[in-house]
This record gives sequence, structure tokens and C-alpha cells, in this order.
Amino acid sequence: MQYQSTRGSAPALGFEDVTLAGLASDGGLYLPTSWPAFSTDQIRGLAGLSYVETAVRVMAPFVAGSLSEDELRDLCVAAYGRFSHQAVTPLVQLDHQHWLLELFHGPTLAFKDVALQLLGQLFERFLSRRDDHLTIVGATSGDTGSAAIDAVAGREKIDIFMLHPEGRVSDVQRRQMTTVLAPNVYNIAIDGSFDDAQALVKAMFNDAAFKGRFNLSAVNSINWARLMAQIVYYFYAAVRLGAPEREVAFSVPTGNFGDVFAGYVAAKMGLPVAKLIVATNVNDILHRALSDGDYSQGQVVPTATPSMDIQVSSNFERLLFDAGGRDGLALADQMRGFETSKAMRLTNAQREGAAHLFSSARVDADGMTTAMRWAYDGAGQILDPHSAIGLAAAREASIDPSIPVVTLATAHPAKFRDAVERATGTRPPLPARMGDLFAREESYVKLPGTFEAVTAYIAERATPRG
Ligand SMILES: *Cc1c(COP(=O)(O)O)cnc(C)c1O
Repeated sequence: MQYQSTRGSAPALGFEDVTLAGLASDGGLYLPTSWPAFSTDQIRGLAGLSYVETAVRVMAPFVAGSLSEDELRDLCVAAYGRFSHQAVTPLVQLDHQHWLLELFHGPTLAFKDVALQLLGQLFERFLSRRDDHLTIVGATSGDTGSAAIDAVAGREKIDIFMLHPEGRVSDVQRRQMTTVLAPNVYNIAIDGSFDDAQALVKAMFNDAAFKGRFNLSAVNSINWARLMAQIVYYFYAAVRLGAPEREVAFSVPTGNFGDVFAGYVAAKMGLPVAKLIVATNVNDILHRALSDGDYSQGQVVPTATPSMDIQVSSNFERLLFDAGGRDGLALADQMRGFETSKAMRLTNAQREGAAHLFSSARVDADGMTTAMRWAYDGAGQILDPHSAIGLAAAREASIDPSIPVVTLATAHPAKFRDAVERATGTRPPLPARMGDLFAREESYVKLPGTFEAVTAYIAERATPRG
């Protein structure tokens, strides 16, 4: 499988190179040059398979040329063996139409483990093949950071520098990052928002000398391998609810548009997806873009769902590229315009390309609380705030009652237990495997959110190439 950049002027690469590169050299994001198609029979053939076997079938076309099926299976066994539920991503029923897909049974209690546990395995495999070293630099609104750190802590060929916005991640999220004391892990709290942190990371990747010297790589959801790993659970869930004979709708609490883009890819591959509901909190740039074509950056408002407090949504570029007709040079112009003016209109082709599959909703704090109470009172389920935003949007969308609606439950409620307690009066306990999190020692530095400060810190500690 070959991959091309959304901005049309980076070289096409195979899966191994795309995984190690993260961002393309022209500033774009990598996508397969065409979507692999699954026949109805192939989808039917997934019925009854374990999560790992489903993962191997769904991902095999994307890694072809870089990994054999047996190699892929070994990596999946290692990655998903660390989950605390045998189904890896179990479904839970809420009522006659609504379901939860629990994606939070990994080591750090958020759905990002599904992708990052595999990415850690892929990095190790590819780096040992090449005898190379990698410096991961990432920005996190909370969950990516802990999941990435868990996935690479202690690995010899990798250093990881993780930026988080100081004071804007929950205590559990921060401690899950800062209590990992492995020598290759560096946590940086920056003075600023998540978007500021993400802009710093982008600037480092655009600095070719810095990027080359330390062999920088990304673990943010701009990395194709992450999205690929997330396609799997759409297939796994839909097949359990009757696909390919029956259509299934998904509601996805969204920030950087990575998780829901994986659903779009599943649909492109032939999975009968009736609708993808893009659920945002009051930071609603994606809702505005999908409902009336207005992609303009507002001020980030901090909410009870910090992993969705985003006003620039990196992976949306992938949808604009694919749905808009795959014209990389035109998209590069459009994105440069956005980077200058912080606003753009979607083209008609982009709007029409998205309209048949996507709907969207903006959910405020009241909507979130109502959904949390509904799930608790009606089904005894305690939801985290992000999942509750997804459920609120799912219940608002008018989906034909014969179509099951699956809300992606993206975090364990204990990860956001203050917000859950405020909404429901119930304080969810941390699972036993996290038990002493609040007794562990923390280690992190605080830096101003400037390019100079952060690059100087990294340059002093990272391993230069060669
Ligand atoms: C990251 C995250 C999201 C948003 O996912 P995207 O792929 O960025 O859209 C939603 N909920 C939780 C709990 C997250 O950690």
C-alpha cells in the first residue's frame, strides 16, 4: 500500500515510512492512495472473530509491503493483550436502539490506548529493523499523552517529550503522565492552551533542521497508523450488531477528528454505516463546518470535556482532501489561507462529499448532564463526560429506529470523576490497577509556551542522529 500527502507535494511512501514520519514533508497528512474495499462476504466473515483476528483482517491491506500477516498478528497480540477486557472493545446496551462501545479498557483508561499500544509496537519493530532512534514530540489535551507515554516508556530507541497545557488537564490525566519515571520520558507543562501546544509541535516539525537532527516523529492523531488501528472497532461493533445485513450508525465525541475519520474510512471500505454523528462540546468548529461550511477558529472555552476543547481540528484536513476530490495543491492553498486568516469556507465539493455520511451536533454542559443521568437512571451506566456528549448527540439525531446507534465511550468515568460527581452525585472509583496513582512521585517541568524555550529544552536532552 502506498500513501500520499493531502497537500500534494510530498513523495508517496509505504506504510513503514509513513508510520515513522507522522506529518508529511509538505505539511500535509498521509492517506492511502486508494481505499481497500471489503466485499459483503468478507465483512460477513468477520462474525465471531476475536478482536485481534478482526484487527488483522481489517488492517492487513494497509500494512501490505511492510508487515506480513503473521508479523501484524504478533504486534496485535502484544498490544491488545494489555487490555483488561477479553473483548478489548465490548458493547453495552442502553435501550432498544442505543449502545455504548467501551473503548477505555486499555492501560490508561481512554480510547487512545487502542491506537497507541499498537503504535508503540510498530515503532519498536520498524526502529530495530533500521537500527535507528526516534524522538517523539507530542501535544496532549490529556489522554494522548498518557497513552503515548505508557506505550513507549522504557523503550531504548525512543525518547518522548510530551507537552500539556498547564492546569487544563485533570489530576488523573496529569498523574498518569508525570508519574511515569522512565528515563526516556519528559513531561512539559506549557503556559497556554492545547491549541498553543499543538502549534508548537507543528512548528518543530516544520523546522527541517530540528526535525532531521533529532529524527522527530508524531504520535498525535495526524499519524496514519493511529487512525488505521481505530478503523477496527467500527467493524468489530457493526458486525456484532448485524452488519453487513444491517446498517449501523455511530456517534463520536470529537476533537481532532481522528476517531470519527476512522469511521469514515470504515464506510469507504464497505462497512454499512448509516450515519456518523460528529458530537462536539461548545468548542464547535466542526459542528459549524459540517452544518454550514464555516470552518473558523474561535477562542477555546475550557469545559468538563478537555479532550474536546479544540478549535483547530488537524484530521479534518483528511476529510476535506478525500471528500473534496483529492486535489492536494488546491487544498494546500486553502489550508495556507486558513493558517493566515484562521477562517475558511468549505468548497461545495467538500460539503457535498461529507453531507451524505455526516451529521453533527453541539452539546453544552446541560445536554451532557442530561445524557449522563439518562444512562445512569435507565441502564445503570456511569458515563464519562466525553462519552456523554456523544450520547446526547446520538439521542438528538433522528435515526430510523430500526438502525442501532452506537456511541463511542472514549474514556473511563474515573478519569474525569470530579465532573461525573458534579453531574450525577456518584464518584466513580479508579479501577484497582490504578490504585496508588495519587501516592506516586511526579516529575515534570513548566515552560513558557514559546518555540525557543521548548526547543532549547528538547535539544539539551534528546539523542541527536548519527
Ligand atoms: C481524544 C479524545 C476525544 C477526541 O478524539 P479525536 O480523535 O481527537 O476526535 C474524545 N474523548 C476522549 C476521552 C479523548 O481522549
